[in-house]
Amino acid sequence: KTEISRKPKWLKTKINTNKSYNDLKKIMRENNLNTVCEEAKCPNIYECWSERKTATFMILGDTCTRGCRFCAVKTGLPNELDWNEPERVADSVQLMGLRHVVVTAVARDDLNDGGAAVFAETVRAIRRKNPACTIEVLPSDMKGDYESLHTLMDSKPDIFNHNIETVRRLTKRVRARATYDRSLQLLKRVKSIAPNTPTKSSIMVGLGETKEEIIQAMDDLLAHDVDIMTIGQYLQPTRKHLDVVKYYHPDEFLELKEIALEKGFEHCESGPLVRSSYHADEQVSQASAQ
Ligand code: SF4
Ligand code: SF4
Repeated sequence: KTEISRKPKWLKTKINTNKSYNDLKKIMRENNLNTVCEEAKCPNIYECWSERKTATFMILGDTCTRGCRFCAVKTGLPNELDWNEPERVADSVQLMGLRHVVVTAVARDDLNDGGAAVFAETVRAIRRKNPACTIEVLPSDMKGDYESLHTLMDSKPDIFNHNIETVRRLTKRVRARATYDRSLQLLKRVKSIAPNTPTKSSIMVGLGETKEEIIQAMDDLLAHDVDIMTIGQYLQPTRKHLDVVKYYHPDEFLELKEIALEKGFEHCESGPLVRSSYHADEQVSQASAQ
């Protein structure tokens, strides 16, 4: 094994499980729902589900029309849209007693609206059944179609999250059919539709970017009015995915966080195990206190 293929000690975590966690898993299976928490084998799952009462649902099926080279979701032609999915997600949010929910989706480039109507209906169904739960949406770029974006924003999510994933230079290599500028424009557009809705974006580091490029990405996000940034370590899901070029030390993540806050982000989560949805519950309470 080469040095870089060996994970440093701060990335080795043990998944902690207990009865309540196992009960939650059962709810997911019974309702035929997908969570990023499980799919991505997220190391934070116990903390999020059991302690923080947060989870990330992946809707519109389990098959994506794109094949980004960092992502473990399967690529192919998706199934028919499932109009009962919004209610099932809403029921599960209730059964899990969630306080904050992140709703993300595979990219449905096969649909004219990119799945925005079902996405919006999911937000509404969650709110109807769980009025106290805050809702964060994490859509694809919806092919840059602003009509679809309006459809989604009509459901009034509490946070709009869309990830640029990486720095400008690496976008083509890392993401499929997405562009750096289109993602930035989408984030900016949200602010013109809903100026008070906090926007958020995330990058993974360890794909070969330089520190200057990360700082440039921060500037680009701020120039597009993004309020919250998250930075996490890229981990290779399988050997077919992009190699990890570098494991950042926790101190480097701390430094990046300080830079981001100094530059003007309202909130930044930065750490080896930080995921786009990590500690999202704190961000929403901070944002609404502004
Ligand atoms: Fe799920 Fe996100 Fe928490 Fe991971 S960080 S367990 S993906 S909510
Ligand atoms: Fe994964 Fe999203 Fe890319 Fe699809 S669009 S492959 S779900 S990162």
